[in-house]
Amino acid sequence: MALRPFIVGNWKMNGTRAMLAEARAIDRSAQRLMKVEVALAPPYTLIHAVHKEAEQIGVGAQDCSAEADGAYTGDISAVMIADAGAKFVILGHSERRQGHMETDALIRAKAEAALAAGLKLIVCCGEAEATRDAGDAEAFVIAQLRNSLPESIEGAGERLSVAYEPIWAIGTGKTATVADVETMHRAIRALLVSRYGEEEGGMVRILYGGSVKPENARDLLGADEVGGALVGGASLTAESFLGIVMAA
Ligand code: PGA
Repeated sequence: MALRPFIVGNWKMNGTRAMLAEARAIDRSAQRLMKVEVALAPPYTLIHAVHKEAEQIGVGAQDCSAEADGAYTGDISAVMIADAGAKFVILGHSERRQGHMETDALIRAKAEAALAAGLKLIVCCGEAEATRDAGDAEAFVIAQLRNSLPESIEGAGERLSVAYEPIWAIGTGKTATVADVETMHRAIRALLVSRYGEEEGGMVRILYGGSVKPENARDLLGADEVGGALVGGASLTAESFLGIVMAA
């Protein structure tokens, strides 16, 4: 079963209430685009407000704790973001792996907490430029995912997405070639099928992320095994984000 393309805006640490107008504009246009699943991940502080605004789009978080509750000052659990209206969570973004020293094992624990809270999850992976230059990109990404993905997703195949985001393409204006994206996404699919089985592993959407823009979205989203996009910079205005949604 092929699911609708999933286009997700990651606002990162951008957005105050003044940006709710963009979310509203995205939501109103997305209502006319039923063949695409559209979602936004604003900062935690805006999840509830975007959820209140949204009639069509899904709202999610950019991270969650692996713990359910307790003495973890500053952390936010999967249960809490679900309570605020989130339907999904992005996990293991390279900015968290690098800036917050998140390990594959921690990301797996967060993924399991998110599944238990009933959320959809987007598990990110991606290699640094030096790794690609050394010819090790595929082995690196597959090892990263093997250790970051939940052991089992029984019955939750449609709730899991993987986002392949080469680190050197994030926020740089550089994108991977369609051929490189296809090679990587096919390798990721093979891993998903071997871990979760033909049916469940076959329905997991594999998103591409890294400098996706309206101008390159059609080529990237048309590539084999690309089931959507994780969009940073170009998701901050309704105009550019909707340009990508239209290309899906
Ligand atoms: P970018 O970010 O679209 O600004 O490159 C993508 C991401 O980090 O998810």
